[in-house]
Amino acid sequence: LVVLADVNKHFGALHVLQDINLTIHRGEVVVVIGPSGSGKSTLCRTINRLETIDSGTIAIDGRALPAEGRELARLRADVGMVFQSFNLFAHKTVLQNVTLGQVKVRRRGRADAEERARALLDRVGVANQADKYPAQLSGGQQQRVAIARALAMDPKVMLFDEPTSALDPEMINEVLEVMQQLAREGMTMVVVTHEMGFARSAADRVVFMADGRIVEQAEPHQFFDNPRSDRAKDFLSKIL
Ligand code: ATP
Ligand code: MG
Repeated sequence: LVVLADVNKHFGALHVLQDINLTIHRGEVVVVIGPSGSGKSTLCRTINRLETIDSGTIAIDGRALPAEGRELARLRADVGMVFQSFNLFAHKTVLQNVTLGQVKVRRRGRADAEERARALLDRVGVANQADKYPAQLSGGQQQRVAIARALAMDPKVMLFDEPTSALDPEMINEVLEVMQQLAREGMTMVVVTHEMGFARSAADRVVFMADGRIVEQAEPHQFFDNPRSDRAKDFLSKIL
């Protein structure tokens, strides 16, 4: 569903993504882990072209990511993204946050969009917060609204970049549970996270990055119990 081929990216002299080849299949949950600065966020951001790439190709559902224009907007709408910081529109209510993109980008009628928004808010467990503003919600609630907002666009793939790392510990699980549920329902997901329990239980595949490269990829039990590379062994010994 998402195919990266020989992708390279530099920030000035820094070669932040080096010869990345990665295929994410429909319905697959890929967890990306690795040390700070290894390029995980940059990888996510290139997939919906928040970052340009210097060489290589990225295709979503068989269509190469175009450089710009209307076609880019359409392809980007197929990629839902949830960030570490909640990124909700502060001056819109929860319901408006989840309705706006549907009306503007997906061209749904307002009543239709609101009905769908309420159903999604119910699904992530915040239906009773619909008329509040983001600042009136807990971090965990805001992040669940962000997930609902992304889902409202009917994305083909969801990207999560450390969605729980800005949360207080007691709110982490409520967000992970929503993500677990999505995974069980067959959503294609790329998840950057330090939550190794989630990686073990939800991932179909773990991708380990270091210094801008994919060093190793394997099924979670194989990766965690029997990492092959020294970089991965070293990383795991520090975090587990
Ligand atoms: P973390 O675990 O800390 O989130 P990461 O693996 O997500 O790290 P990236 O955010 O992708 O890492 O950053 C990779 C490298 O690229 C880092 O050295 C970072 O400083 C650098 N970098 C990221 N964004 C930019 C930018 N816009 N301009 C210049 N350098 C950048
Ligand atoms: Mg990052």
